[in-house]
Amino acid sequence: MVTENLKVVEEKIQNACMRAGRDRGEVTLIAVSKTKPVAMIREAMSAGIVTFGENKVQEIVEKQKEITEPLNWHMIGHLQRNKVKQLVGRVSRIHSVDSLRLAEQIQNDFARQNEKIGILIEVNMAGEESKFGLAPEETEDVIRKIAAFPNIEVKGLMTIAPFVADPEENRLHFRNLRKLLVDINSKNIDNVNMNELSMGMTGDYEVAIEEGATFVRVGTGIFGERIYQ
Ligand SMILES: *Cc1c(COP(=O)(O)O)cnc(C)c1O
Repeated sequence: MVTENLKVVEEKIQNACMRAGRDRGEVTLIAVSKTKPVAMIREAMSAGIVTFGENKVQEIVEKQKEITEPLNWHMIGHLQRNKVKQLVGRVSRIHSVDSLRLAEQIQNDFARQNEKIGILIEVNMAGEESKFGLAPEETEDVIRKIAAFPNIEVKGLMTIAPFVADPEENRLHFRNLRKLLVDINSKNIDNVNMNELSMGMTGDYEVAIEEGATFVRVGTGIFGERIYQ
């Protein structure tokens, strides 16, 4: 199932790139494997996937006990400060930095082990109460402060768009996230030259690619519905 699903997703990514006049190489597909077994991850690996997204630190730790091949693991979910130290050496991106306090913790824990980490700043573009993320208006200020942290590199912005029936409803949020990135880059802040946009999930990744996504986070579309106990 995973192999067939990946074929469909890959084709849709290519078509979206074509429509937008973008190179396929500009977009990285993150296979969001949360709650899914190692066997399914292995099937995706066999199909050529090397980047996986998880939203729980403990699940990353457990899965890495069984999967020791070199992969890019991305932490995409809400991160508690007391869990940060377990991520050192385990992930290549943290997508979900939503406060200065969390960034300070990341700086401290990674510095202690002499490691650097690329992060994305999570922005709540639709202003949903239920979602984490900075307000667009406060994002620049927080980035200015994080820019001074020697063990952190701010690579870009991430958003989790609202759950909608028609993906076109999220186009403006994606467009505005890209605008925010361009706007902050134009301020020429020392150590800030962002070029990564993590936006788009199973329901709306094609629209996100048309609006400039460089990472799309696709779970259900690859691994099927998640069943939570
Ligand atoms: C679960 C999750 C996804 C994947 O969602 P799907 O709709 O299954 O593709 C993407 N991003 C984040 C942050 C997630 O937690």
